[in-house]
Amino acid sequence: MKHHLFTLVAAASFLLCIAVGVFWARSTQSYAPEMVQVWYNRWAQPDDVHGYYIEAASYTDTLALTIDHHHASPAYFQASPENRQQTAQNFPPGLRGNAFLRKDFWEGCSRQSGFGFAHHAQTQFTGYRSNYFMLTVRPWLPMALLAVMPALWINRVRKSRSIRRQGLCPKCGYDLRATPKRCPECGTEQQIKPARDAPAQSLGAGQTALVSQPI
Ligand SMILES: [Zn+2]
Repeated sequence: MKHHLFTLVAAASFLLCIAVGVFWARSTQSYAPEMVQVWYNRWAQPDDVHGYYIEAASYTDTLALTIDHHHASPAYFQASPENRQQTAQNFPPGLRGNAFLRKDFWEGCSRQSGFGFAHHAQTQFTGYRSNYFMLTVRPWLPMALLAVMPALWINRVRKSRSIRRQGLCPKCGYDLRATPKRCPECGTEQQIKPARDAPAQSLGAGQTALVSQPI
């Protein structure tokens, strides 16, 4: 079970790594950004609104994660009737999402590229507060991190293959060539097929036997 989970996470990590690579390659060929946006607006009361915004974007050799939280308190709504109208229009309650592929709407707008972090707090309107965080990285960093799990998985498969090829118990490493069905040392039942144990002495021969005699 634990092994399957490890395999699953490694596979997901590998796919994500490839996806980041694809977006990276695309971002170097076009200025148009690609992004996924998700909004969630919570109207706690008619005059108390919380908005949450998450955006992942890929553009010119950069990956950006943006998180924004804004809060409109009763004081904001009392300040002007227009505020209520605008909030209802711009921040309707509920969950919304959007995805763009190469959408060219950033003409003349500069976005931070490369590694960076930005935080802006907007408080110029009475009763309204917005906190905006943006983290940008070069895509090779998440790719390198996402490659760790697949690399561990490959290493693990190679190790367990080598252990099986040598006729050792995968759990404790005890030599099982004399008792291939069950480990006398730790009691682990083995799933090794007898045919695979035979050429255990020679690694080269064992490898060939494994490849050329699928069971
Ligand atoms: Zn054992």
